[in-house]
Parts: sequence; structure tokens; C-alpha cells
Amino acid sequence: MTQNSSSSRNIPVVEKILNANEQLASENRQRLDQAGVFGINIMASPGAGKTSVIEKTLAGLGGRFKVAAIDGDVATSIDADRAAAAGATAVQINTGGECHLDAVMLRGALQQLDLPQFDLLLVENVGNLICPANFQLGTHKNILIASVPEGDDKPYKYPGMYRGVDALIINKIDLLPYIPFKMDYFRKGVQLLNPDLVTFPVSCMTGEGFADWITWLVAHLQKA
Ligand code: MG
Ligand code: ZN
Repeated sequence: MTQNSSSSRNIPVVEKILNANEQLASENRQRLDQAGVFGINIMASPGAGKTSVIEKTLAGLGGRFKVAAIDGDVATSIDADRAAAAGATAVQINTGGECHLDAVMLRGALQQLDLPQFDLLLVENVGNLICPANFQLGTHKNILIASVPEGDDKPYKYPGMYRGVDALIINKIDLLPYIPFKMDYFRKGVQLLNPDLVTFPVSCMTGEGFADWITWLVAHLQKA
């Protein structure tokens, strides 16, 4: 008998927190829908290239849409500053040490934006492959960025993250010749967890692959 009674007592509390988050997430979604804004939540480990992908995405959209960026960071505004320099209206969320964004934090950030003037909202989550998957924000799509230097075993190690996303960007493919990353093994792990997941192998250094990602994004944006 190894059941831990204190952890089983905690379960209802955790469920309450997650249910409250779901409720706020659906309110955030309503806000976005009423304003005609298509929102995506971008998740990844630290250093996978979230901010670089946002910069490349803004460049690829080429001013065709009005874009807001919300950047969650534990301490700095470096990412929000980069998004602003790339042409987005940027709002910084300092999470005060929290390792993920939640729907309350997003609600606070949305209040700082005049939403109806935007077409697209890019939310950069805190770099972390564990808990961001458990906290819906109310965005329309959840995007995961994997990167070649992280290794080909990440779908196997962080299944929760790979299961819950709507699109997968595989960044830093320019490094494939230098790193023992087996794309077949990586893709097999992804396939097991999320069989129909659409994937975009890209490089922020060379720009390879971004045309397909931009096409996907624009198609969903225009449907919203
Ligand atoms: Mg970043
Ligand atoms: Zn967390």
C-alpha cells in the first residue's frame, strides 16, 4: 500500500484551480471572438526559439494584419521588446516566478490592449514543457515549438505537451547535419501522441519552412 493520502486529498483542490482556469479561459476566448482576434498560444522549452519564431512570423505576415504580442516571462521584458521591434504591439506579463501563463494573467494582459483593432494575437508562454499544457488561456490554437538541439526524445519525455497542441513547429533544422537528431524517431513519438498533428520544420536562421507556417496561420486567421 503506497498510496499517499495527503496527495489524494489535494486532488480536489487542484481540480478546482483548473476548473476556475477553464472558466476564465472561456471568457478570454469570448473576448477575442467578440473583437475578431485570432489568438495562438506558443509554448516551448527555454531556448527553442519562441521569440525568434514570432519575429519571423511578423516578418512573414509583412504588415498584412494588425498583430498584438503578449510575452510571459519570469523576470525580463527582452522578448516583448523584440516583438515590439518586429512590428507587434507588445504587452509584457512578468509572472513573478510562475513557470507558466494562466487565464488570469492573460485576462490582465488583454485588458491592456484595444482588442478590436487587432487581427492576430501571439502569446509567448513561459519556456517550460510541463505545466503550460495544463492551463488553457482561451486562445484558439495551441502551438508547440520543438527544436533540434533539444533532442529527438522530447515527445516521449513530455507527452502532455505534445498531446495537447494543434500545430508543431520544429525549429533549428539548419542544425540537423551537426546534431544526432533522428527525425523519424522524433516524428514516431509525435505520431503516437497526436496522430494528425500538423508540423512545420523551419529554421529561423535561413527562413526555410516559414512560407508553409505563414500559409497555415493566415488560413486559420481568415477563418476566425
Ligand atoms: Mg522568448
Ligand atoms: Zn508552471
